[in-house]
Amino acid sequence: MKFGGTSVADLERIRRVARLVAAEAATRPVAVVVSAMAGKTNELVAWTDAAGPAAESLGLSDDEYDTVVASGEQVTAGLLAMTLRNMGIPARSWLGWQIPILTDAAHGRARIDEIPAEALTAAIDGGEVAVIAGFQGVTREGRLTTLGRGGSDTTAVALAAAVKAAVCDIYTDVDGVYTTDPRIESRARRLKKISYEEMLEMASLGAKVLHTRSVEMAMAHGVPVRVLSSFVEPGEGQGPDVGTLVCEEEEIMEKRIVSGVTFSRDEAKISLFGLPDHPGVSSRLFGPLAEANVNVDMIVQSHARAEGAANMEFTVGKRDAARAVEIVRAAQAEIGFADLSVDEDVAKVSVIGVGMRSHAGVAKTMFGALAEKGVNIQVISTSEIKISVLIDAAYTELAVRALHAAYGLDQV
Ligand code: ADP
Ligand code: ASP
Ligand code: MG
Repeated sequence: MKFGGTSVADLERIRRVARLVAAEAATRPVAVVVSAMAGKTNELVAWTDAAGPAAESLGLSDDEYDTVVASGEQVTAGLLAMTLRNMGIPARSWLGWQIPILTDAAHGRARIDEIPAEALTAAIDGGEVAVIAGFQGVTREGRLTTLGRGGSDTTAVALAAAVKAAVCDIYTDVDGVYTTDPRIESRARRLKKISYEEMLEMASLGAKVLHTRSVEMAMAHGVPVRVLSSFVEPGEGQGPDVGTLVCEEEEIMEKRIVSGVTFSRDEAKISLFGLPDHPGVSSRLFGPLAEANVNVDMIVQSHARAEGAANMEFTVGKRDAARAVEIVRAAQAEIGFADLSVDEDVAKVSVIGVGMRSHAGVAKTMFGALAEKGVNIQVISTSEIKISVLIDAAYTELAVRALHAAYGLDQV
């Protein structure tokens, strides 16, 4: 069972979580993963920002960032364990390093390498509820790490795989995965089931209901994941029909062409003008970006009519934009472009569905719906099961709602 920030936002909610855990623990052994209280991690991140320039910009490791931001989960793990004990249920807290959850040393976005779960499994088998601090890990050298924002989901799925749990229940402030963010579109519908592949695309394209890595891991290890509401009392709203099950495509009877619409405002578009049009240009441009660990997402290159007249546009995450520009400028002579511009007022809107593999006309519907609303498309990218467009950020909600309706996803 994993509980997110809003689910453990105060003591009253922690008590409700404890009641849900107690009901589950009466039927089978449980491990619980908790996030920090809602808003806590943001506050801690702000403290690290205020303390000085980002270590990365000084060429230093971000290890102390992790020391600070990992602390939020320690508080909720301890409080939930205490609350369970007060209810007469044997429980103890586990921090990432105590299990240990071993990660690489990519501070702020570490990946889990291995979880030697013997001690944890022994405690759970001994009848004790294990309350684990999400989001945090430890390097083999003993330094604290964090898994990236929203990473507690990944802690939960990784632990579920490590202890061979029957299921990983992700309790949050919505009662499942919806066809789009219900905060943007009130007509969004809950999906009873969604395939790992679609969920992976949805998560990586902006639906923050699950951390992308957690879905990747669930898919790799075949962990069934359920997304459920924590805002219920034990026994309330239970049964096979609640929440959303993330599972294999074959287990889904209802066939849809498009399952969901997502958006991400965390985008920046970098445009290069006056590029030469000959072999090696892309390599000289994207090589240094890759070396600096900058993730490039969408790319379009326009054909040049004359030598030195090609243009190239690509997108990176907002937080990488400044660094990307610095790297590209440093290589200006080598790449040979004339001019560069950055636009951070862009958003990526995507439609996702495994049905696209076998149906034609999905893109046409998307472009038609956006044209009808007067939304200009700047960049397009597609994969087998998704189409993404980059648009002016001001039209994000309009575009999401228009697409939601165009694919017949609105609740009737
Ligand atoms: P937690 O703190 O429990 O981890 P998050 O805030 O990370 O919760 O994720 C839950 C939120 O994800 C919901 O409140 C909702 O606004 C948002 N969300 C975005 N897209 C979707 C979607 N397709 N289905 C459900 N929720 C979504
Ligand atoms: N507390 C962390 C965050 O806010 C991890 C999480 O909630 O999943 O990003
Ligand atoms: Mg989350």
